[in-house]
Order: sequence, then C-alpha cells, then structure tokens
Amino acid sequence: MTRELFGTAIVGGGAAGLSAALVLARSRRSVVLLDAGAPRNAPAAHIHGFLSRDGFPPSRLLEIGREEIASYGVRLIPHPVGSATGDAEDGFVLTTEEGSEISARRIILATGVEDVLPDIPGAREAWGRFLLHCPYCHGYEVGDRALGVLGGAPGAVRHALLVRQWSPDLTFFTNGSVLTEEDEHQLRARDIRMQDGRVTELLVDGERFGGVRLDSGDAVPVDALFLRPDSRPRTELVVALGGGVDGAGFVHVDGSGRTAVPGVWVTGNLVNPRAQVITAAGHANAVAMDVNADLVDEDVRGARRMPALSGEAVGA
Ligand SMILES: Cc1cc2nc3c(=O)[nH]c(=O)nc-3n(C[C@H](O)[C@H](O)[C@H](O)COP(=O)(O)OP(=O)(O)OC[C@H]3O[C@@H](n4cnc5c(N)ncnc54)[C@H](O)[C@@H]3O)c2cc1C
Repeated sequence: MTRELFGTAIVGGGAAGLSAALVLARSRRSVVLLDAGAPRNAPAAHIHGFLSRDGFPPSRLLEIGREEIASYGVRLIPHPVGSATGDAEDGFVLTTEEGSEISARRIILATGVEDVLPDIPGAREAWGRFLLHCPYCHGYEVGDRALGVLGGAPGAVRHALLVRQWSPDLTFFTNGSVLTEEDEHQLRARDIRMQDGRVTELLVDGERFGGVRLDSGDAVPVDALFLRPDSRPRTELVVALGGGVDGAGFVHVDGSGRTAVPGVWVTGNLVNPRAQVITAAGHANAVAMDVNADLVDEDVRGARRMPALSGEAVGA
C-alpha cells in the first residue's frame, strides 16, 4: 500500500478543521484534511451569531470552506480516521477506516464533540429543531414563545435562568430532580413555572412540536425545549497518540492548542464544547499559525543539518 506524505494532517472538517486548513495551505504547506462529514450543528437549519454569515445553512458554510481550501490545493479525504500512531520525530501515520494511510509531520485534531441526548422518545427527532441546547444559537428565533427547560442535568437551573432572557413564558421541568430552596427562589424570582414529574416523551409530529408528555400522562405544550446536553469530546485519536485528558474527558492543552504530545494540536469543540462556529474557526486559525511556526523551526534545524537542501525541500 502506498502511503501519502503531507506536512500537516487535519482530522475533522467542521469550521475548526477547515479554518486551520485554509491558514496552513496559504502558508504554502501541504495539507490533507480527513473528515467523517458529521458536523455537530448538522441538524440545525441555520447558523446564527456568525458575523456576516448569520442565518446561513450550516452545510453551505462548510461547502464554501471546502471550495476555498481546494483552491489552495488541500487534499480532502472524506473518510473517518480509525487510528493514529507515530510521533513528530519519525512522522505520524493516520489510517482511515477504509484502510488508506496518510503520513504527516504534524497533526491537528478537530473532531468535535458528540452530544449525548437524554434517553427520551422523540429526543433524537426533535434535536436541533425543537430540542435545543444553545439560546445564543436559537433563542432569538423562539423569543417570547412558550419555552421549557429540561431539568435533571447539572447546571439545568442556571440554564433556565439564562433562557428566561429570551421569553417570559418559561417552564422548568424538574424531570424527577429535586430542587434546592435556593433554586426555587431563583426560578420564582424570574417567574419561571416549575413542573414536577418525569418527562417521558417529546411530542414531535413532523414539522410540529406538541411539547412534552409527563409520567402522569399529561401533555404540557411548549414551542421548544432547552437542555444542557452531555457533550463528549471525541478524544480517541489524541489518546492513542499519548495525549492526556482531564476528569471531564477534555484534552490537556496549552493556550495555543498544543497537547503534551509534540507535534499534535487540538482545536474547536474538541477543546472547548462551548465554542461557537466563529470561535471554533478563530481558535483553529491561531492553532494553524502555531503549527506553521513549529514547522519553520524544524525546517531551520533540518537546513542546518543539511545546508544543501533548501527550506522548500525539507518543508511541505
Ligand atoms: C443543534 C446545534 C445548533 C447549533 N447552532 C449554532 C449556531 O447557530 N451558531 C453557532 O455559532 N454555533 C452553533 N452550534 C455549535 C457548532 O455546531 C459548533 O460551534 C461547531 O460545530 C464547532 O466546530 P468544530 O469544527 O469544532 O466541530 P464539528 O463542526 O462538530 O466538526 C467536527 C468534524 O470532525 C469529524 N470527525 C469526527 N471524528 C472524526 C474522525 N475520527 N475522522 C475524521 N473526521 C472526524 C466530524 O464528522 C465533523 O465533520 C450549534 C450546535 C448544535 C448541536
């Protein structure tokens, strides 16, 4: 099997991975981007809060990004990476689930997070349309409507107090959790209704949302339900390369996205689950510059060892 060699391999082609690819390709580096093609916001109809792109379909933004990086010669491989080995000294090797191998001097991982939804019938169908996590993404569109917040997850009360900014008609579904006296005071102070009982179903009917069904059998109509999902970073590859993770499963990095493994950077939601599209892209832009600077240093070391070789010969 032939193994293709690149300066930098980027895993993950969402906003972060594409942004890093653009900066590195414009730095005249050879770049390969490997992408499984399942960005986090795919279920949403629009991106909001991205200056100059507010209201854009998420798929369109990525399509433009792919066109831009292709115009600078980035190689796009639309397959998931299954394994990662090697080191900065001898080069890294990525193997796609299809079995092709890529070799690279540096690795940027931008594989994002997986949002683990509650095990409630209808949650999957409602996700990104009626079941929402981010008021900054969707709050304006459902402003002043009848909204709910699903309790039971850490930070749910705080989330309700936040969502209240977008609508005065808000119900907090305790969903079996027990509220402290302080929680109740805060919710009452902001006129947020409290509804006891476990949520057993989200009532999705095609393009309509009927609200939630409780274990009492009652249905409570709301136009949208917010929750704090459990967002799990996809760290398998960085761990395979020797990177450490914290108690919440996030990768140890310095301020520029470098992991403890020389030659491996992480960016986007993989390091910060709260990063919006513009933030993920911005962080990746800075990460790419750091990767390029690191390659420049290595090129200088290589050129000093072998003066006959130009920077371009040792670079890429
Ligand atoms: C429903 C919803 C709506 C949202 N709305 C907004 C909004 O309006 N505005 C906003 O700014 N933000 C919004 N967000 C947040 C937004 O999705 C993130 O900010 C953004 O996706 C982060 O980009 P990323 O590149 O880090 O990760 P992603 O966009 O998730 O990209 C990661 C990519 O890596 C790929 N990948 C994973 N593992 C592998 C592997 N092993 N090999 C190859 N590829 C792999 C994935 O398939 C995916 O394509 C929303 C999120 C959700 C869930």
